[in-house]
Amino acid sequence: MQLTETSAVDLVEGLQAGRWTAVEVARSFLERISGKDPEIGAFLQVHADAALEQAERIDARRATGKSVGKLAGLPLSLKDVLCTRSQPTTCGSRMLENFQPPFDATSVAKLRDADAVFLGKVNMDEFAMGSSCENSAFQATRNPWNLECIPGGSSGGSAACVAAGMAPISIGSDTGGSVRQPAALCGVTGLKPTYGRISRYGLVAFASSLDQIGPVGTSVRDVALLLEVLAGHDPLDSTSIDAPVPPYSQTVEQPLKNLTLGIAKEHFESGLDGDVESAVREALRVYESLGATIKEVSLPHAPHAVGTYYIIACCECSSNLARYDGVHYGHRTDVSQMLAEGGNSNDDLTPLERMYCRSRAEGFGPEVKRRIMLGTYALSAGYYDAYYLQALKVRRLIRQDFDKAFEEVDLLVGPVMPTAAYKLGEKVEDPLSMYLSDLFTVSANLTGQPAISVPCGFTSGGLPIGLHLQAPPMEEERLLRGAWMFQNATDWHQRRPQ
Ligand code: GLN
Repeated sequence: MQLTETSAVDLVEGLQAGRWTAVEVARSFLERISGKDPEIGAFLQVHADAALEQAERIDARRATGKSVGKLAGLPLSLKDVLCTRSQPTTCGSRMLENFQPPFDATSVAKLRDADAVFLGKVNMDEFAMGSSCENSAFQATRNPWNLECIPGGSSGGSAACVAAGMAPISIGSDTGGSVRQPAALCGVTGLKPTYGRISRYGLVAFASSLDQIGPVGTSVRDVALLLEVLAGHDPLDSTSIDAPVPPYSQTVEQPLKNLTLGIAKEHFESGLDGDVESAVREALRVYESLGATIKEVSLPHAPHAVGTYYIIACCECSSNLARYDGVHYGHRTDVSQMLAEGGNSNDDLTPLERMYCRSRAEGFGPEVKRRIMLGTYALSAGYYDAYYLQALKVRRLIRQDFDKAFEEVDLLVGPVMPTAAYKLGEKVEDPLSMYLSDLFTVSANLTGQPAISVPCGFTSGGLPIGLHLQAPPMEEERLLRGAWMFQNATDWHQRRPQ
């Protein structure tokens, strides 16, 4: 067994037992990155020297019997939306190309305290807006299962680097499915915890009422371990939940008794690819063989989830991204060139206003601009009630659907995505069709409930398919145990791309 094919839990155990050192583990993954990443394009920055130094320090501490953190020596990668002190944090955007935060995100600080080793920062759709990773200003990332296909997004770099064995774990973010979708399309496991379970301090904001950080790994056990480290109250994030953190890594392997799983009939109604539907139905049979009862439930407002999500997400993004004006934050246009060119005779902008406009026009890519405009429109006087306020009301109805469903079932099960990975470039010109592929994942962000994607099969073309499980808010323990039951009975998560 190669170290790069070993799970995070086993790597940590082997490090504790002295079967390998942190330096050996870091070297294996760094070599794998050098060999593989030129064709995958998952990493925006590889921090090889810093990672080896960190690993050496951890080995030295352990050798002298000093205490080490819970993840001591475990390498991982970070989506480039997480602030890392004195290191570029680009968010996949020209706007933040030269941004080096003066602080670590709370999640990064927790990983540092746990003695994880940081391999580098990975690619994403610009400001986490997208489902294919093609909206990055810097590079496209390819799906390790088929290099012509997208890895999913927006945490495409996270899922691709884990699937290709370049990191055992990656930390992503999920606003409408960005951890779960790429995990599904790359055949790995991705968890979106309850809103507020993990501090968002230092996570560059996209849509603040929906954003949540989540781990991507090769198994449910691995993401359970990471959740245990990342979860918890943070005074720096007023939306973080002040509740004890259960020992997820210790309970994850306890099967759930008398499990009732719900399937929403709305999830099987239209547009679902045949191979995806068969894999999900087969997964239900696996659960039945484990003693679970399957019950059909209804989520009557499910058809409105995508519309509701895109109104709310765009409104919040238009407000959050107002800070990138070239003064407070972000790229600033070349002012001397601007002044030399002179103003446009038919505008009455002051030089300052012109500088804002040019900085934003140069710094943001087309998808981000589209969303800022949609959100600004929906929030403007006269439209606010018709769009934003209406979306908030529908959001409440969607939450009530789920509350009702969870009175009857323990977990909801269904597909993560309506199709498997598609070809690079296929949907770039058709943003609406890309938005529509978010139909199964956005609800968990609108309601705040936790959800996970686990591998459950392949298409006839050999592309991975993900199974989606959702639980009531704060019931990660139940969610992880239910998902582990499936992984323990199947080997889909152990398959690796050749
Ligand atoms: N695909 C969705 C979007 O483009 C979700 C993105 C995310 O979760 N960050 O908004």
